[in-house]
Amino acid sequence: MNSAATSPHPPIARRGVLLVLSSPSGAGKTTLSRALLEGDGGIRLSISVTTRKPRPGEVDGADYIFVDEARFKAMRADAELLEWATVFGNSYGTPRAPVEAAISRGEDVLFDIDWQGAQQLSEKMAGDLVRVFILPPSGRVLETRLKGRAQDPPDVVAKRMAEAAAEISHWAEYDYVIVNADLDTSVAGLKSILAAERLKRDRLLGLSQFVRDLQSGLETGV
Ligand code: 5GP
Repeated sequence: MNSAATSPHPPIARRGVLLVLSSPSGAGKTTLSRALLEGDGGIRLSISVTTRKPRPGEVDGADYIFVDEARFKAMRADAELLEWATVFGNSYGTPRAPVEAAISRGEDVLFDIDWQGAQQLSEKMAGDLVRVFILPPSGRVLETRLKGRAQDPPDVVAKRMAEAAAEISHWAEYDYVIVNADLDTSVAGLKSILAAERLKRDRLLGLSQFVRDLQSGLETGV
């Protein structure tokens, strides 16, 4: 058998997947995101801008781009943000340019944003978007995880518990829901979602050409 017969076909050009993860605080979204990013070189994290102060250990430019209110307002006014929202009294937003560049290069982007951001992206980029909601297995587990974080003061933890129910009420606006009882199982589920979405016919811009070439190959035997 010659090498042309056994070599894989060249990659078919496609648009990137915009994978949105939302959940109440403490459902394990950050851990899940990290696991997905570490195990898959084809997806990058969208780094949000925020007016929130950095938590211990957070790195500017890696976890968030930390800005003041004036800078955030200027970015909004200049249409530099794809979506934005106020969460727990702080402003958060997704810088537009890196997302548009990635998607047109066929690279996938992961968003750790809340339901408000997911709704705005649904209005603007519905065809590219895949929305995944992460639920905790129970209220008790959520509370334990929030208390265990120890990074936020108790009043912030109490506020976030109160906000969890409101965030969870948006679960039905998402395409997929993962109940995060076991991290490995949840990561496997998330990887499966991404793998399937990458194969969606609508995303495979180069598919028509590939099939045309294939058909002419069938005729000519090449
Ligand atoms: P934290 O302050 O705990 O990092 O994030 C608080 C909440 O804000 C989380 O639910 C997170 O998903 C959300 N968030 C972070 N960045 C963005 C963003 O750019 N846009 C929106 N809409 N929400 C965000």
